[in-house]
Amino acid sequence: MYTCGPTVYNYAHIGNARPAVVSDLLVRLLRYLYPKVTYVSNITDIDDKIIKASKESNKPINQITEKFEKIYNEDMASLGVLAPDIQPRATDHIDDMINLVKDMINNGCAYESEEHVLFDVKSYNAYGKLSGRDIQDQLAGSRVEVASYKKNPGDFVLWKPSVDNDPGWDSPWGFGRPGWHLECSAMSEKNLGLPFDIHGGGMDLIFPHHENEVAQSCGAHGEQNNPKIFVRYWIHNAMLNIGGKKMSKSIGNIFYIKDYTDKYPGEVLRFALMSGHYRQSLNWTDKSIEQAYSTLNRIYRILKKVEDIKIDENNVNLIPDSVLDCLCDDLNTPGALAKLNDIVNKLSKASGDTEKKELKEQVIAVSNILGILKESPDEWLGIGQSSDNNNVDNINKLIKDRNDARKSKDFKKADEIRNKLTEIGIEIEDTPDGTIWRTK
Ligand SMILES: [Zn+2]
Repeated sequence: MYTCGPTVYNYAHIGNARPAVVSDLLVRLLRYLYPKVTYVSNITDIDDKIIKASKESNKPINQITEKFEKIYNEDMASLGVLAPDIQPRATDHIDDMINLVKDMINNGCAYESEEHVLFDVKSYNAYGKLSGRDIQDQLAGSRVEVASYKKNPGDFVLWKPSVDNDPGWDSPWGFGRPGWHLECSAMSEKNLGLPFDIHGGGMDLIFPHHENEVAQSCGAHGEQNNPKIFVRYWIHNAMLNIGGKKMSKSIGNIFYIKDYTDKYPGEVLRFALMSGHYRQSLNWTDKSIEQAYSTLNRIYRILKKVEDIKIDENNVNLIPDSVLDCLCDDLNTPGALAKLNDIVNKLSKASGDTEKKELKEQVIAVSNILGILKESPDEWLGIGQSSDNNNVDNINKLIKDRNDARKSKDFKKADEIRNKLTEIGIEIEDTPDGTIWRTK
């Protein structure tokens, strides 16, 4: 499986997390079902946006790309995204890209013009098949002024000249750099061979990026009628809306993962991302995050109550059919989370140790494949984090005083105690099972 990775010139935003989490979940499921899964996801470390960021910040390109590649990987790890088996960088595959362009030229799918190399879309009969676009319609409707080096408006750049000290590489067509689409054709084939099984990415990449990847790979192999020689199945996730609006710089509603992980554990974001089906756009709101947080809090509290029940490690990898059926039904994560909730409810009401053990094993098995519940209940709930026992006694006493105050309807005093707890870094939550606290 191959999923298009990030262009590393800025912090990862929450929209970048969706394809990573969806792919991670699919890879976990495939590994559960099949003996050998290789997952490749690339790093785009050469691109016009990176060059622009380098010029604006007056920093060398590799300083920017190394920094943001590291941050991206740390952010994804905090969301429980396992590292890909292979994470190739575009700049390590320039030779492979040059070879693909040579093959496309030899097969009559690409042409050189004014130091550029262009893909000739008319040479590829299946162009538009993936995205469901009629290329002839598009050409007729095109009003954009066409660059002088293009034979047809739909032709896209495979190689372009680098000028004004822009980074570049020597090639048969002069000093230059690849067009963006080329790297994924080169790196997927190099690391997986053709055809490979699954290609993932956001829906916004279907056209032109993925359409062009197919055209390039088929063109380079002389298979202009046969898109199946590249990829067997595509999986595209829908976009994330912030407060009902599309995320965009001009609206100013771009939220970076680091903004959230300052406030919430990464699991909360992962849980909120999985609460919608990947093919439907997800409305990302503070409420949806809070909801995910309180659901996870509840599950951890229930796990805390059964922490003394020993479970069989062999069974924590056996996912109940009810959950597996959901995940195998086109990654129905809302369904899987609902089933998890059912199991958690049963666990909270379970009486005998045998029943508790079995249900606890199921909860852990489900959380392993969903990539959640990675912390111990104590860590999550902030219990016992204070090394000072007097402090814990003091907190418990304050909570008791506050509850007494509330019982006698002295809400002023109750609020004062809550404020006092906040001041010493303690957050409290009133639950049906009583008041719990955690360090902030
Ligand atoms: Zn790609």
